[in-house]
Amino acid sequence: MVKIVIVGAVAGGATVASQIRYYDKAAEIIVFEQDDMMSYSACGMPYYIGGEITDADDLIAATPEKFKKEKNIDVHLKHRVISINRDKKTVEVLNLETQQSVEESYEVLILSPGGTPIIPKTPGLESTKMFTLRNFSDMEKIHHYINTEQPKSCVIVGAGFIGLEMAENLVNLGMSVSIVEKSQQVMNIMDADSSDLVEKELLNHGVKLFKGNFITKVDGANLELDLGEKLQADFILMSVGVSPSTELAENAQLTIGETRGIVTNEYLQTNDASIYAIGDAAENIDFITGDAKRVPLAWPAHRQAHIVARHITGDNIPFKGLLGTSICKVFTQSVASTGLNEKTLTDRKMNFESLTQTSLSNAGYYPDHEKLFLKIHYDSQTRKVLGAQVVGGKGVDKRIDVLSTAIYAGLTMDDLQALELAYAPPYSSPKDPVNMAGYKAK
Ligand code: FAD
Repeated sequence: MVKIVIVGAVAGGATVASQIRYYDKAAEIIVFEQDDMMSYSACGMPYYIGGEITDADDLIAATPEKFKKEKNIDVHLKHRVISINRDKKTVEVLNLETQQSVEESYEVLILSPGGTPIIPKTPGLESTKMFTLRNFSDMEKIHHYINTEQPKSCVIVGAGFIGLEMAENLVNLGMSVSIVEKSQQVMNIMDADSSDLVEKELLNHGVKLFKGNFITKVDGANLELDLGEKLQADFILMSVGVSPSTELAENAQLTIGETRGIVTNEYLQTNDASIYAIGDAAENIDFITGDAKRVPLAWPAHRQAHIVARHITGDNIPFKGLLGTSICKVFTQSVASTGLNEKTLTDRKMNFESLTQTSLSNAGYYPDHEKLFLKIHYDSQTRKVLGAQVVGGKGVDKRIDVLSTAIYAGLTMDDLQALELAYAPPYSSPKDPVNMAGYKAK
């Protein structure tokens, strides 16, 4: 009977524990989680704060009691793994309630520790109300603050996924929202023309944007920006990114890569074959280029968890790499991308062409059609699809998923014409926007 210890009990950790149990009824599985909650949907948290989801419990998928009863998995909350002894194959675990530490042995160790929000060193930041949103208790704190203090304004620092989702949810609560973003565009994984559409949507909903800018000084509710503007905010939401939690791994001399994640092979093993790393803290490769890549999103954590479970239980399925497929709702618009963007293609000096296509999501005579903007990058010689972005009001998810599948399957722009895609007037047109892009590329 193999003994498996897992660090982290949310997306990657809880999933890998369940998956191992599915394939191995006998394994001893012990999970340590430093927080007081396991297996919840972090992705749903902005929508609980915004009131779209009314019961926080709906975000919780499992409890330690449920895991024990239904899967015979031991989950210890409020237990932090503080060191790994690779020679002895043990971890030291600190019980955060009693402050006692214990040693736990393992045959296989799986690290899924996620990341920690980055907080810039801004003078005066301690003088104001500031939140980050990473875990369940962050969410509860923000929710409680909003409901008791009734703030009227917020400055969000960082215009990535969390910043944009929170902007929408706070505006929906009636707040005045400003976003301060260091780069020259919001959502900087997108190309500029795609992100322009997102900016328009934010402005249309009254969000004030301060791009190429950052906070230089905070004094209570008063904020000063690098380009001279002065803002007032009841609170700040800091969402400038997450740094992978690699301290445990580093201290155990596991290799850290160029993306600052824990380097893993195709089976998610680190440089120590008995230690795996998955999720936000793990570095893998880009599906197309093979370059080092880390995608801090839920799909990689879940897919990697499956591959690790299969590998441990004797079935070797190599992880083929990451496309970074993502989607985000910004008021009435959805913004999605997959594969390589213009910047990466240009930096790598790849030979590519790009095509943009603005179409309707579905039949123009059907009442609720909306505009869809598609941008596709493809290899100039092989014509294989290398990357795509879709922004629009309806049907963005369908198109980005077709295009992500096209990249996975190695399809060319000409194949896009030939795809037989579902059509009826409420959903598409006889020539879907993806087909149209294929025809246009010819
Ligand atoms: P986590 O799920 O963060 O779990 C790591 C856990 O490990 C944490 O609970 C941490 O406390 C624990 N831990 C760390 N160190 C130790 C230690 N030493 N000992 C014990 N425990 C430890 N992704 C999407 O794809 N789509 C979305 O819409 C989306 N929305 C999001 C919205 C928000 C607000 C947030 C915060 C994230 C969102 N994500 C989304 C990202 C997604 O939630 C993460 O990519 C995913 O949770 C990563 O899984 P993980 O297991 O690597 O880390």
